[in-house]
Amino acid sequence: MSLDPRTLLFSLILTYGLSMMGIYVASAGRKSRKPDGMRKWAAAMFLETLSWALIAARGKIPDFFSVVVANGFLSAALALILAAVYEFQQRRLPRWQYLVPVALTVLMAAVLQEHIRSRFVWEGLIYGFQIVLIGRALISDTDTRSGNAWRLLFGGIVILLLILISRAGFGLFGEIQLAQPQNTLEIQPIQLIAYIAAMSTALLGSFGFLLLVKERTDREFMHLAMTDSLTQIPNRRALSEYAERSLARRTGLPMALLMIDADHFKLINDTHGHQVGDEVLCKLASLLSARLRGHDLIGRFGGEEFMVIAPETGVEGALTLAESLRKIIDSTPLVTAKGIIPLAVSIGISNCAATANRELKDMLAEADAALYDAKQSGRNKVVCFGGANA
Ligand code: GH3
Ligand code: MG
Ligand code: MG
Repeated sequence: MSLDPRTLLFSLILTYGLSMMGIYVASAGRKSRKPDGMRKWAAAMFLETLSWALIAARGKIPDFFSVVVANGFLSAALALILAAVYEFQQRRLPRWQYLVPVALTVLMAAVLQEHIRSRFVWEGLIYGFQIVLIGRALISDTDTRSGNAWRLLFGGIVILLLILISRAGFGLFGEIQLAQPQNTLEIQPIQLIAYIAAMSTALLGSFGFLLLVKERTDREFMHLAMTDSLTQIPNRRALSEYAERSLARRTGLPMALLMIDADHFKLINDTHGHQVGDEVLCKLASLLSARLRGHDLIGRFGGEEFMVIAPETGVEGALTLAESLRKIIDSTPLVTAKGIIPLAVSIGISNCAATANRELKDMLAEADAALYDAKQSGRNKVVCFGGANA
């Protein structure tokens, strides 16, 4: 199979052009609240497309355009990719990181217009530096590093770096003549590999970046779906899922469920208004959350009721935990816009023994019954279903 440089360049132009369109259309359709770097990525693909078009026209247009401008565009495209990654990470990109490489590239291309081998070496150095900056920005992002999108994107970047290293090596030590659009030489294997790699980078990079943005949006939606909008702690859905998972995972370990209900909360609303009631609920949530540790999860079950799921916790541990939560609320003055408001909580506990096979709904019913007893016996109390009281 003999491929000529123009055909390969044409397919590169198509690949980058279509990647640009795909990313642009995807970014235009998003109702994103914050900048995510997708427009900058699309702009980078646009510059790459133009650059490959100028390279393809080598011999038909002045070398200034097909060498100096084309290389300037390639370096600017890498700078835009770096800017897109920084924008995605909500960080400020230091200006020198995009200005210096682009200026150096244009200068180098102008000086070495006639010397393709020296240009390969210089391009390898400057573009390689830009790619290392992109790779460094990606590696520093611990939030996204574990996802598939990150691996795809990073893979694209590594491939690009490998091409540049091999091109620079070729520029230094290679002896053979390279096929170019303006000559009739056969394409060299190294050139073919470079074209394929450049194409892979466009596709892997664009898919990777798009997925990176999507993965983050998914995480944000998941967080919204699992968080109580008033107190910003986990909501009932998050509690239920965590409890179900903890029940399923327990192998020979006990588990406790605490139902916490604010005493006479209606009175606070009636006396001070709903807004102060909301403020008290937020303070209560943060006081309770601050006491919890390890695998314990606290959430708002609904209204003025909160729940703690305490995996690996037996009756004694659950009673100690509940009693300390009750004491903290009883002894901490809640400072609000309407002054200090006294508050107490009653707590009902359901315990699942190490060997028992239990369903969440049964534990909820037990915790509810224990809570009812705590209310009946005077409030500001902890009651454990089955009798053990604090
Ligand atoms: P008890 O000691 O028996 O639990 O009495 P209580 O007044 O706390 O319980 P009751 O069930 O009678 O009232 C609960 C109150 O909680 C009524 C409701 O208006 C209030 N409430 C529920 N959700 C919210 C909320 O999001 N914000 C505010 N401000 N109040 C809420
Ligand atoms: Mg209640
Ligand atoms: Mg109540």
